[in-house]
This record gives sequence, structure tokens and C-alpha cells, in this order.
Amino acid sequence: MPPRKLAAGNWKMNGTLASLAEVDALTRDCGTAGVEILICPPATLMRPMADCIGRGIIAVAVGGQDCHAKESGAHTGDISAEQLRDAGASYVIVGHSERRADHGETDEDVAAKAVAAHRAGIASVICLGETEAQRDANETLDVIARQLAGSVPDCATAANTVIAYEPVWAIGTGRTPTNDQIAEVHAAMREALVARFADGAGFRLLYGGSVKPANAAEIFAIAHVDGALVGGASLKAADFAPIVKALD
Ligand code: PEP
Repeated sequence: MPPRKLAAGNWKMNGTLASLAEVDALTRDCGTAGVEILICPPATLMRPMADCIGRGIIAVAVGGQDCHAKESGAHTGDISAEQLRDAGASYVIVGHSERRADHGETDEDVAAKAVAAHRAGIASVICLGETEAQRDANETLDVIARQLAGSVPDCATAANTVIAYEPVWAIGTGRTPTNDQIAEVHAAMREALVARFADGAGFRLLYGGSVKPANAAEIFAIAHVDGALVGGASLKAADFAPIVKALD
């Protein structure tokens, strides 16, 4: 059976309690779409969002945007995977390019965070992607192969890990790779996963980077694209709902 499609929203440092109305509207608009919907809000909204799910008001999964590799301790400002789970998360994004750039996270750090997520019983969404300079230098496939080898831990399985291909130059810019470029990277990721993991064919592979209602259907038609990680267009139900439906 093909893996269930996943529409994941990354709210980044956006949203307040009032934003829960957007998730309510999204749930009502998307009904029982045969697609899993995941929203990764800022940590402040995780518990209120999970409570809305518990009361049947919204029907999405909740995820964190990062986690610390350790379970607890003297790490001011950080959140552990166990704490995310306690707040209602079933996923956590790790290795987003903004964290790699802003916080100097390495592939090794990302792999340790993914291990922490799995230890806590939540799934990791591991982000990979080349910079514009790397694409221009024709290094994309090498970069992706290196990041995938270094950021995806050996304990990864199709059930506990999602891989998101997010070209750094496409995030928040309105620019996207060509369909052929996305297809090439996704095929390479699939090949590497199949070579390394017994269930490599089942890992869900998301594309992320300026996905919007106008380009979603075209991107979702590409082989080995099992969903999307969406930033800006996940903040409003009016934008995210058509993307979810394009995946259905
Ligand atoms: C992201 O930050 O993961 C992302 C894909 O952002 P956007 O959709 O806004 O390009």
C-alpha cells in the first residue's frame, strides 16, 4: 500500500491563540480528506492546539519545530522531545535549514535530535536541502546524499521518519525548482533509502519550498513526492486547504 500522503505546515515563529481559528477552518474545509495533516506551531501553541484536537474541534496532528537531543537538564530555552510529546506532539521537524543556518546545526546534531524524537515515541521530519550556490555548482545530489547519510539515524524507519527535501533558495522566496529537478532529488533520496533501510521504499518524502495553491497539484504529481512541508502558505486555511486537497 502506498504511504499515506502528508501535508505538513511549519508555522515558524508565527501565530497566537487567535490563530487556532485557522486550524478550525482548515479542519472544516478539508473534512475527512484522505491525507494526514500536520501543523507545527510555535511551542506556545502546542498544548492549546492539542487540546482542541482532544475536544474534537480540529483534526490534525501537532508537531514541534525542533527538539534538544537530551531528555532534560540545564539547557535554557530548549525543549526536549519528551516535553513535546507531553504537550501533545506526535512529530517534530529537525534540521530545518533555518536552524542549520541560525544555530549552526550539523548533520550529526540533526541525527541526534531524530534519535531523541524516536526515543520519545514521536516521528521526525528530517529536512535536507542545497543552497543556491551548491545548486549552481552542480553539487545538489552530493549535498543531499551527504545530508541524508549524516542526518538520518540508523534507527530510522518508514513509521518514525519523514524526509523533507527543501532547497534553501526556495524557502520563502516564491521560487521553486523545476519539476525535473524535484524528481531527480526525490528519486535519488528514494534510492539511497532503499539501499540503506529494509523499509526504505515506505519512507514518506516531502517537497518543501514555496509550495502554494497554484503549484501544489503539479508538484504532487511528481514521482516519490508523498506530500509537502509548507511554510508561509500553511498559516491561513484559505491557502493551506487547497494544498491539502491537491494531495488527496
Ligand atoms: C519551510 O520553511 O519549511 C518552507 C517550506 O517555507 P515556505 O513554504 O514559506 O517556502
